[in-house]
Amino acid sequence: MSSEGVRFEASEEFARRMDAEDPLRHFRDEFLFPLHHGEQSIYLVGNSLGLQPRKAKPYVVEALEDWEKLGVEGHFAARHSWMPYHELLTEQTARLVGAQPLEVVVMNTLSVNLHLMMVSFYQPTRERSKILMEAGAFPSDQYAVASQVRFHGYSPERDILRLTPRPGEETLRTEDILETIERHGREIALVMLGNVNYLTGQAFDMAAITRAAHRHGCRVGFDLAHGAGNLLLSLHDTGPDFAVWCSYKYLNGGPGTLGGVFVHERHARNNALPRFEGWWGHNKQTRFQMGPDFDSIPGAEGWQLSNPPIFQMAALRASMELFDRATMPALRRKSDLLTGYLEFLLDRLPPGFVRIITPRDPKQRGAHLSLRFSKEPRKLLEKLTAQGVVCDFRSPDIIRAAPAPLYNSFLDVYRFAGVLEGHARD
Ligand SMILES: *Cc1c(COP(=O)(O)O)cnc(C)c1O
Repeated sequence: MSSEGVRFEASEEFARRMDAEDPLRHFRDEFLFPLHHGEQSIYLVGNSLGLQPRKAKPYVVEALEDWEKLGVEGHFAARHSWMPYHELLTEQTARLVGAQPLEVVVMNTLSVNLHLMMVSFYQPTRERSKILMEAGAFPSDQYAVASQVRFHGYSPERDILRLTPRPGEETLRTEDILETIERHGREIALVMLGNVNYLTGQAFDMAAITRAAHRHGCRVGFDLAHGAGNLLLSLHDTGPDFAVWCSYKYLNGGPGTLGGVFVHERHARNNALPRFEGWWGHNKQTRFQMGPDFDSIPGAEGWQLSNPPIFQMAALRASMELFDRATMPALRRKSDLLTGYLEFLLDRLPPGFVRIITPRDPKQRGAHLSLRFSKEPRKLLEKLTAQGVVCDFRSPDIIRAAPAPLYNSFLDVYRFAGVLEGHARD
């Protein structure tokens, strides 16, 4: 049974019926699937690199043609003029993450933005110098945090508090996170968690964590690389100080594309915050007077440094339009069913073949399930690839499978489980 009371069945007919009743099924046609022997592959790595929306190419070509025909005039005269181009993404991005338009901006890339946010929101003092993060955080986040700590003259060994699961457990307990904040809150300058955790698929209770951290005077930031386009977010109401994410995973913006940033409204006009500044964060009315003094745009846009890469934004627009049409609440509903169906089918495989390490509680996860295989997972992945299944592998023994609700179907999930079943009986 799913959390919404759907009684799952392990049959192709059932999977096809779920697809026929899926109000979002048409969005699949908006994407280009890599082919395997002429057929769409079973693509379950939207958590790593989302598929290309059909409209991405025409949107990029439009910008290329405008550049060809208009040269520098394209800044104003392009069909979508380049000067304010990033604003085309603002409202959609705000709706995606549950923020006010003032609170979001699309710029730079994820690790860069994480550093920029820490420049503003990690201000260690002798009494309050620590950063609380997951021991199992994504490596780039670990490097960024440690280098920020060192940059301020503090010591990563002493000043980074790392959350670890209890012995014998794979994921963190919310109560343990909150207890750590209660115990060390006075020494913590910044609580910085990934959401969803990239390796385990665990989603954290952002509201409870944010409340606890703020009660103790800590700043709070979330890395939503695996959360944007996956979790139902309401960043404004939840209230973290900042959040960052990338747009090439669930958001389908294309390889290495731009990241997104949320800065809470309470900081929109806070000029006392330290910040690294650049001309694209300067007041738009006076930017081209080229004066020497920085006059910040209020809100997240004030953190922009450079004029943005138009071709990448063009591709991202194609996907963001689809998210806006589908809406996150509807995507989340479908995602719950898709991932619940995957879980249901995996639980029926021969005992001992695979273990799901992602939390079983749908509220503590997004789309992806992390699977631990007892024998030769790397070989298994090779076999899956040869059969047209695209998943990814994280050393030493985890395969991640992420049905993305915007383009994956119940039939994809059913077929994936069928391929696994064949190997379970090898
Ligand atoms: C994917 C991912 C990154 C990658 O960072 P880039 O700067 O986009 O290369 C960083 N952190 C997390 C948590 C991620 O999931």
